[in-house]
Amino acid sequence: MKKKVIILGSGIAATTVAFFLQDKCDVTIVTKGALSDNNSALAQGGVAAAVGPNDTAQAHYEDTLTAGAQLNDPDASQILVNEGAEIIRELIKMGVPFDRLGDGSIDYGMEGAHHHPRILHAGGDQTGKYVLEFLQRKLSSKVKIEANTTAVEIFPEDNKAKILVIANKQFRTIEADFLVIATGGIGQLFPVTSNDKTITGDGIALAKRAGAELADMEFIQFHPTLLNKPGSSLLISEAVRGDGARLVNKSGEYFMADVHPDKDLAPRFVVAREITNQFLKGEEVFLDISTVQNFRARFPYISRSLDKAWIDSTLIPVKPGAHFFMGGVKTDLNARTTLGNIYAVGEVARTGVHGANRLASNSLLEGLVFARRAAQDIIARPQKDENYQTEKQEPTIYKQNLPTLEELKNRAWESIGIIRRPEKIREFLAWLEEFDDSVPNANRIDFEISNLILISKEIARAALARPVSIGAHYIEEEND
Ligand SMILES: Cc1cc2nc3c(=O)[nH]c(=O)nc-3n(C[C@H](O)[C@H](O)[C@H](O)COP(=O)(O)OP(=O)(O)OC[C@H]3O[C@@H](n4cnc5c(N)ncnc54)[C@H](O)[C@@H]3O)c2cc1C
Repeated sequence: MKKKVIILGSGIAATTVAFFLQDKCDVTIVTKGALSDNNSALAQGGVAAAVGPNDTAQAHYEDTLTAGAQLNDPDASQILVNEGAEIIRELIKMGVPFDRLGDGSIDYGMEGAHHHPRILHAGGDQTGKYVLEFLQRKLSSKVKIEANTTAVEIFPEDNKAKILVIANKQFRTIEADFLVIATGGIGQLFPVTSNDKTITGDGIALAKRAGAELADMEFIQFHPTLLNKPGSSLLISEAVRGDGARLVNKSGEYFMADVHPDKDLAPRFVVAREITNQFLKGEEVFLDISTVQNFRARFPYISRSLDKAWIDSTLIPVKPGAHFFMGGVKTDLNARTTLGNIYAVGEVARTGVHGANRLASNSLLEGLVFARRAAQDIIARPQKDENYQTEKQEPTIYKQNLPTLEELKNRAWESIGIIRRPEKIREFLAWLEEFDDSVPNANRIDFEISNLILISKEIARAALARPVSIGAHYIEEEND
């Protein structure tokens, strides 16, 4: 009998695990929304890999550790850059349509904190969608897909895993030899975010309730340039600044010139913080794209989205927003969590490759590399031949005292957002302690709120435990 593997999520990490397991295991993908509802499909800039002329994995490694303030796990980071280059070469051979120059060579882009043009992109600014759909097309019909199905609780057991899911208002327990959590990050904890609506930290909360270790919870990356228009979450990729766009304030001042030697391409936390400072001074901030050559051809998705938002100027109003989570479920080099048969891959996992701050375009790469490792590890592990003891798990339905999602988001933004103050974080934590998040709620909205409360508590505690600013964690000293 083939090993049974359940994969939660439908992004790059989940799809890559399924791709590498499909011939050897009985694979089911369980995902909260449609197959296209994920952050991977939104990734614009590209995927970083040292495969171009004169580039080396060592140079990519050094940029990764510099961006991460040297808090990265060195072994995991070496794996990322070395195996990452290998996988990208394979994807090129398999025919992923990365953008090319007139002479047929790959068009390598530049992004912040990289010291070499090593960003492969596809469809201009639609890299995630192109790579994801390419891999999804490679999944055989043997891979079962359960869309619009949400995992609400996991039960690690000796040699297997049980997962409680809900679909069409019906709860069901699924059992498997192995469970792979690939549910992405936590963007929807904040009122301003680039993330898909389904990204509410579920996998991290489920794993924590089941007893898994979390790590690096204080490190959240805020992206400096989201379109500043009510109701919009459009990201204006860093690749636009890589192609020459500049940040200016409403007085026309090129303010990044004096803030960091890399100016507009300084690390994201530096740029996001400076934009926040500009807002605090009563300024507005714009991305001036007048200097970008062939903007519409190079960035077709962003151009179309700006058209839809009625932005027809070369000065695009921007603001920072929550973007990427460096922390998450702690994993080893084979993507195993601290719970027996449960793996975590992609943004939900804390592999250690990002340290205190992710280098741009390293996350699609992380998803590919550690998803393949998880698949290889699952294939190599022995299968226990005992029959499943099906013991139905019942959902916990009870009335929880919870805040509204809006209130939670606003408080999170003020306390554990771009600029943090210890007294604000303590106040936030005291407020959070009023709410019980120990059991997942059976109501969809309450389920997500209670997951985000659990995660907020972890972030607040981790932020207080690190009273000194480093990487994306910026904390003002007591009595500043
Ligand atoms: C706008 C944007 C642009 C980006 N640009 C880049 C870029 O250029 N380069 C780069 O490297 N990175 C980029 N990133 C980051 C990158 O896209 C993500 O880190 C990466 O795609 C995460 O992949 P993943 O597979 O781990 O998670 P995701 O792609 O986010 O997928 C998570 C999946 O889990 C599902 N899910 C969630 N909860 C549950 C549940 N309870 N039960 C079942 N399913 C669940 C979700 O619906 C989703 O399908 C960008 C991110 C955004 C938002």
